[in-house]
Amino acid sequence: MTSKKGFSSTSVHGVGERDKMGSVVTPIYQTSTFFFESAEDGARCFAGESDGYIYTRLGNPTIDEFEATVAALEHGFNGIATSSGMAAVNTVYLTYLGQGDHVVCHNALYGPSRGILETAYPRFGVESTFVDTTDLKNVEQAIRPTTRLIFLETPANPTIGICDLNAISELAHRYGIKVCVDNTFCSPYLQNPLDLGADIVLHSLTKFINGHADIVGGIVVPKSQEDYKKLNYTMTNFGFNMDPHQAFLARRGLKTLGIRIDRAQQNAMKVAEYLESHAKVAWVKYPGLPSHPQFELGKRQMRGPGAMISFELKEGYEAGRKLMNHVKFCVLAVSLGGIETLIQHPASMTHSKLSKEAKEVGGITQGLVRLSIGIEEAEDIIGDLEQALEKA
Ligand SMILES: *Cc1c(COP(=O)(O)O)cnc(C)c1O
Repeated sequence: MTSKKGFSSTSVHGVGERDKMGSVVTPIYQTSTFFFESAEDGARCFAGESDGYIYTRLGNPTIDEFEATVAALEHGFNGIATSSGMAAVNTVYLTYLGQGDHVVCHNALYGPSRGILETAYPRFGVESTFVDTTDLKNVEQAIRPTTRLIFLETPANPTIGICDLNAISELAHRYGIKVCVDNTFCSPYLQNPLDLGADIVLHSLTKFINGHADIVGGIVVPKSQEDYKKLNYTMTNFGFNMDPHQAFLARRGLKTLGIRIDRAQQNAMKVAEYLESHAKVAWVKYPGLPSHPQFELGKRQMRGPGAMISFELKEGYEAGRKLMNHVKFCVLAVSLGGIETLIQHPASMTHSKLSKEAKEVGGITQGLVRLSIGIEEAEDIIGDLEQALEKA
């Protein structure tokens, strides 16, 4: 799927034909099933000789239009929309991992993406290794003869570490291993992993792509038709499909993705600079700051630093807790990528169940705070952090 138009032109207009009834917006085909004109027509649909629709779990016009648009923005073959980001992750795991197979992952993966590999997949004979994939040497050392998949997040959650996608993909392909990138933190507006060598990209649409904190959803976009067929088989048969109304809302959110991220990352740069100069802050991790350990790599593979910031409070856990209790404007909530600024304290919230050791390995320090910067005025975000930091 390609589009010669600009990013926002494609995200607004899509890549398909205009609606035959004249609707400017892609309508919601709120139906579970589709009628056939005749027995022969039905037979052709089932044989794959016609592109007619059969049943919404297998395909639906509202969902199709959304999938094609995201695929065009990610430069992939086609999209496979799913009920959630985790359904997208499981679509990939179930497609490529079976009895005796091994997967290499970034050690600071989104909690449940790591959790299911540690608790559920071993029941099916799947083994996994978690390493700091921001260092290529670690990836090479973790590869085994049974490795089938390398699963990455960059920038990672919530440490903001950046992986070299070109280098990792080249290494993986030498061993015939597939590379999948969870691109949720960047969205296709800032990074296209398929152009950097990855085979599959996925998103939690819940975050930047929908962007309005009002639905949960996911999508997988492979580069090749062959991978598309395998992944689509998993999605439709395991029942990970999206619903038409969900697709309508995600499609609406997608239209403003470019301008939302432009604004949010302008704000994020100001907030990151403010925090870096604050006496109570030990360090700030933001790809737009020259102090970021992979600043140059970030500039090469991302079109902008994004809207996610992590910072460490010198006073640790208690200061993190106090900061959460004193913000008034920033919203104390997990998730990210919406139009409103969200703040959370991983050590007491999202990552509280991890052992002390696992926290250390994943970079979850006691005073770590994660911000997802929204599209409000930067002065209001900074003003709120200022008054709350005074009390922290
Ligand atoms: C939220 C998130 C997921 C899971 O998505 P859901 O829509 O919550 O199922 C996966 N990866 C990353 C990086 C996320 O932030």
